[in-house]
Parts: sequence; structure tokens; C-alpha cells
Amino acid sequence: MNTLALDAALRERCRAITPEIIALRHAIHAHPETAFQEERTAREVAERLRALDIEVTTGVAGTGVVGLLRGGQPGPTVALRAEMDALPIQEQTGAAYASTTPGRMHACGHDGHTAILVGAAGALAALRAHLSGDVKLIFQPAEEQVAGASRMCAAGVMSNPPVAAIAALHGWPGLPLGTINVSPGPVMASADAFEIAITGRGGHGAMPHLTVDPVVAACEVVGALQSIASREVSPNAPVVVSVTAIHAGEAYNVIPEAARLRGTVRTLDPAVRARIPERMRRIAAGVCAAHEAEARVDYQECCPVTANDPRACRAIREAAEPLLGAASVRGDGPPSMVSEDFACYLAEAPGAILRLGLGDTPSLHNPRFDFPDAAVPLGVALMARVGLRLLGCGW
Ligand SMILES: [Zn+2]
Ligand SMILES: [Zn+2]
Repeated sequence: MNTLALDAALRERCRAITPEIIALRHAIHAHPETAFQEERTAREVAERLRALDIEVTTGVAGTGVVGLLRGGQPGPTVALRAEMDALPIQEQTGAAYASTTPGRMHACGHDGHTAILVGAAGALAALRAHLSGDVKLIFQPAEEQVAGASRMCAAGVMSNPPVAAIAALHGWPGLPLGTINVSPGPVMASADAFEIAITGRGGHGAMPHLTVDPVVAACEVVGALQSIASREVSPNAPVVVSVTAIHAGEAYNVIPEAARLRGTVRTLDPAVRARIPERMRRIAAGVCAAHEAEARVDYQECCPVTANDPRACRAIREAAEPLLGAASVRGDGPPSMVSEDFACYLAEAPGAILRLGLGDTPSLHNPRFDFPDAAVPLGVALMARVGLRLLGCGW
């Protein structure tokens, strides 16, 4: 089959499976499961892949599922990835297929991503005899904890057979429906987590001079940490230092013994990222020493910067342009300080994540967010074509 005929067959197959894939999206949406608990979703995905005669491995990194679609012609192995986890949010969409589990919902669109990848697998499976190489279909757990991808990699998902290139999509509210954005270089920030334990000396709230007040020290540490972004890193290098939790004390008349701060650090540059822990330790220790308190900083690197490979971006654009039109395939999206554990796969193979326009919808992680059905067929056709294009890139 020549490229044009293959393209037409792929489009036809994608069109045919759209109703089934939208129904699958609704079913996943109704049964959201949070990080590492994606049992039901994983079962559903595995069943669908097996029905397509795709080799399936389950229980990867806990609840992950990996499908291997073997092409009829020799060639490389490329991978497409989706995430299956939901969020601990009470849904307020009012949708007919809304979450049936209180306090859990698909507010990041991973229901859409999972259904889309099952759809793309179906479209590619129908053409397997004509595929030059294999397509690995990665359904990972726990993206929201930026923990699933690293465990999938540790479980060997990028080897056996080795993955030459990888792609993924994420729905993007605010980007018009029918458009995508895929830019080379850093597109999502690194994510680190920190906890600062501040120890003072407790006592009576009315006799502060006899105490070492960890609350006052903690407040000054929160303020001083803001100087990392404003005074220690170039204004040209984006960095976020957010203290997101403060815990200290119980009673109105007791100065507590200790205080605890928690937060997150985001950067777009590995060199900037590497210097943050030392700065944080120096500031926390110095400010606390000024109050005779002590600080202990526990700093954990969670996921690296997501940097798209230029060649993979070009392949995605080439796959998307005949489908969406050149004007709707953009490469000008500003990087987001949100993070993506897709970065872990990019540490092992070149690849790219594209933003799929979801139009005028509530923001990601909002209780009224719902992945638009209209974006599903676009996503299916796009991911199938990206898989095909990546196979033909000669990695
Ligand atoms: Zn999310
Ligand atoms: Zn997400």
C-alpha cells in the first residue's frame, strides 16, 4: 500500500471507531481511579488491546499496561504514551457520565488520552501488515504524582525492544479545537518537592522571650525563599518557588516546638534547577539561625524538564498538517511551569509531547473540566498518524 492509500485507510478506520472510543472515554470518566489504583481502567485497556490481537503486558509499575503492536515489515520500535490516573477532586460537571466515585474525577483529561490511545491502537492494528516496525502502546499510572513514568522506565518499558522515539499528547484548554501546538525545546518545567522542618523551643504564648518561636522563623523563611526567584536567578530563567503548606501549633496560647513548610520548585533549565537545593538550605538555615532556631531541608527531585526533540516535533507536524491544515499546526506555545513525567521517557529516547486544542473549556484540574468529545476523533487520528510517521523517520 502506498502512503496515500495507507493514509486514506487510516482515516476511514479512525472514523469508524469514533463512536466506540467516545463511549469508552465516558466509561473511564465515570470510574476515575487515582495514582496506582487504576485497576479497572487498566483491565479495560488490556481487554481492548487483546481484542485487537496486540501483545499485552499488565501490572507494569503496579497498574501500568504495555501493548506491543508488531508491524508486518521490519523497522524500529516507536512508542505512544497515555496516562490513566484521575485526581482527588469532587466533580461538578453535571455530565450524564460524571464520576460515580465521590471525591475522584478525571479533571486532567487522562480519560480522553487513554481512550484516544486505545483508538489509535485500533486504527494502527487494522493496518499492521503495512507497518514498517513495531508500535509500543504505553498506558502508565500515576502521572499526577509525577511517579508513574519513572517506575515504568525502571520496569524496562523503554527496552525489549528498545524504543527509538516516543510521543504523547495532552489536551490543552484555551487552544482552539482542531489545532495543536508542538514546540522544540523545553515545554514543561522540572518538578521538585521540598519540606523544611524548623525546630525552636516551645512555651507560653504570653512569654515569647522564654521561647524560640518557630512560627516567626517559618514566616520569615517563606518570605526569604521568594528572593531565590527575584534575586538569585536571572530574570531570563523562569523559576517558581511555591510554599504550599505551613503546619505549626494547635492552641492560641502555646508557642509550638516546631514548624513545617512544604512546597514545590519548578524550572525550565537543568543548570538553574541544580543550584536551587543549596540556595534553599542556605536561606532556611541562615534565617532560622538569626532566630536561634534550626532548619532541616529535605529536597526531592521528582521529574526533569520536558524538552521536546526537534526531529520528533517535525515528525508530529508532518503527521498533523494533512489532517488539520498547516495553519492549525503551531509551534509557538510558551513553555508551561506545570510538569509532566513524560520527561522521564525523554531521558531514554528522543520524543515530543504535543498540546491538543480543547477550545473554550474550564482549566485543567478544575471541578467543571471535561475532555470535549469533539477532540476525541482528532486525537485518535493524530496519534495513529504520529505513530506511523515516527516509524518512517529512520531513527
Ligand atoms: Zn494534571
Ligand atoms: Zn494531565
